[in-house]
Amino acid sequence: MRKPLIAGNWKMYKTHLEAMRLVQGLAHELAEHDFDAVEVVVCPPFTSLRTIQTLIDSDRYSFGLGAQNVHVEKEGAFTGEISAPMLKALDVDYVILGHSERRELFGETDEGVNAKVKVCWANDMTPIVCCGETEAERETAQTETKVERQIRGAFKNVTPELARKTVVAYEPIWAIGSGKTATPQDAQTTIAFIRGVLEDEYDTGVAQEMRILYGGSVKSGNAASLMSQPDIDGGLVGGASLEAAELAAIVKAVK
Ligand code: PEP
Repeated sequence: MRKPLIAGNWKMYKTHLEAMRLVQGLAHELAEHDFDAVEVVVCPPFTSLRTIQTLIDSDRYSFGLGAQNVHVEKEGAFTGEISAPMLKALDVDYVILGHSERRELFGETDEGVNAKVKVCWANDMTPIVCCGETEAERETAQTETKVERQIRGAFKNVTPELARKTVVAYEPIWAIGSGKTATPQDAQTTIAFIRGVLEDEYDTGVAQEMRILYGGSVKSGNAASLMSQPDIDGGLVGGASLEAAELAAIVKAVK
């Protein structure tokens, strides 16, 4: 059984004070939530990681903590970058890798994502590997070619032991922040295809154990129908994760 996961990607939103209020609000909304049944992770900007780590520790919140990127080197003259040991020292559990915004705006490549997957695991943090097609790729029936390339690239020389614990997020780029969502059936079809690629890369056991999330305009109103699909193991949520009641409603929609 794969444990569902809802991860909030806060992107470049919220000061550390706003982030604190958001986590406190979320804790209030999810006071009765069974975190063993559905895992909840918040991925704030780097500037809020320390604040939220402290809150999680002091108030014994059951949220996981995620970062939105990492540099591959341990330390060095890399102005503006953050290393994996720095994140690990803040008790970061998850790192989002290869988000389409990083690929499109910051030139992230499949090779770079692959290196970061290995660095995350070397520091005992779970990568959330993003993949997905553009609208033009979808319209020209290239979705499968694109996500297969991204998945095979990200998992190159990653051992089955580590792959089975790695999370994948299928995020059609045309659905991110656009209000357009893939239909549950379309999302299921592509996610099942991704699981098939992982089965080919590893084996059935590994592929069946891996959690694959859907991302792209997930909201409280569409979460239940998406999350009830057999291969969809949760969501990577952007805009809707910036409001405590909305994110909590998405978490509660997962059965
Ligand atoms: C995201 O950025 O990962 C995302 C899915 O955003 P949104 O939910 O706003 O579409």
